[in-house]
Amino acid sequence: MIYLDSNATTSVSPEVVEAMMPYFTTEWGNPSSSYKFGSKLKTVIETARVQVADLIGAQSREILFTSCGTESNNAAIHGALRHNPNKRHIVTSMVEHSSVLNYCMALEKEGYRVTYLPVDRDGLLKLADLENAISEDTAVVSLMWANNETGVLFPVRDIAEICRSKSVLYHCDAVQAAGKVEIDVRKVPLDYLSLTGHKFHAPKGIGALFLRRKAPFSPFVQGGHQERNLRGGTENVALIAGMGKAAELAARHLAGYEKKVCPLRDALEKGILDSISEAELNGHKTQRLSNTTNITFRGIESEALLLLLDQQGICASSGSACLADSDEPSHVVKAMKRDSAASRQMIRFSLNMTTSSTEINEVLSALQRSVEMLRS
Ligand code: PLP
Repeated sequence: MIYLDSNATTSVSPEVVEAMMPYFTTEWGNPSSSYKFGSKLKTVIETARVQVADLIGAQSREILFTSCGTESNNAAIHGALRHNPNKRHIVTSMVEHSSVLNYCMALEKEGYRVTYLPVDRDGLLKLADLENAISEDTAVVSLMWANNETGVLFPVRDIAEICRSKSVLYHCDAVQAAGKVEIDVRKVPLDYLSLTGHKFHAPKGIGALFLRRKAPFSPFVQGGHQERNLRGGTENVALIAGMGKAAELAARHLAGYEKKVCPLRDALEKGILDSISEAELNGHKTQRLSNTTNITFRGIESEALLLLLDQQGICASSGSACLADSDEPSHVVKAMKRDSAASRQMIRFSLNMTTSSTEINEVLSALQRSVEMLRS
């Protein structure tokens, strides 16, 4: 198998499996219990909190463990809105992940007003649009760090500064950015930031929310006193330990990530654009994650090409894995190109640190063969 779908999920690294094992086997207590067999697990959770905080330049008390990136996104927006009950306006973009878009659409049904900022052909925002969209009634801005389909990076520091200057809370979905680009919340004055473990080699089903000290919050998951009363539910100690370990490894590998992954992504992209006619890049050429390329193959339905690639053992996707079972064209490419054909004819390739140049060459040959077959 050649796996070029790392924006969908990643393998769990062996060190992470090792770090989790005790909590699946011998150390299965409940951290909230009063006796040591359970309560000693609190230190495991606190160690992981430090590891996750270190990945993004936060303090450990600013990290809240959640069940996934989707929950972190929902919880941040919910928390901001609860704090400002008189404000009924949210600003986001047309290219956010479904966990933000669908939550915003649900909020519209409850009477909130939502502005979905457009992007240009390269997937970039106009900051003037953001400034114009924010009004006295705006409770929160939710704009992502890196797009999951194109890898395009939003100017989060500028966004955060605009929000700060207008006294509006800013939530950033950094699920795709973590482990791929430097995130330092000391340099970006945002209020909330979402992470999920499975995009950087921890298991699925564990996420985190950075909650800046003093940022308003109201629990999204209500229940017991876990997570300093901010999220009810018995902590998943094994997965928390795994996310902590994965965050530590991601921080360690960050310096070499772009150097390792970018030349391979560029070789794949150039190989496709040079050798396959009517192939075009979706997304800004440089203001982008180094592991992602998103390409429209004119005249070819994504699903047909993905099927042929799958038959040759190659995993790629036509956008977000969360929407892969729907017939909808990519809302991201549609927002960029305003062309639904392009959004049904695109493939996302997303690499990771283990991708090799042999794999890239094999994918190129397979693509050339498959496109020729589908066009003949
Ligand atoms: N946000 C972005 C940008 C994503 O790519 C994803 C997952 O694909 C999510 C949020 C949701 O994360 P999770 O799968 O952990 O709910």
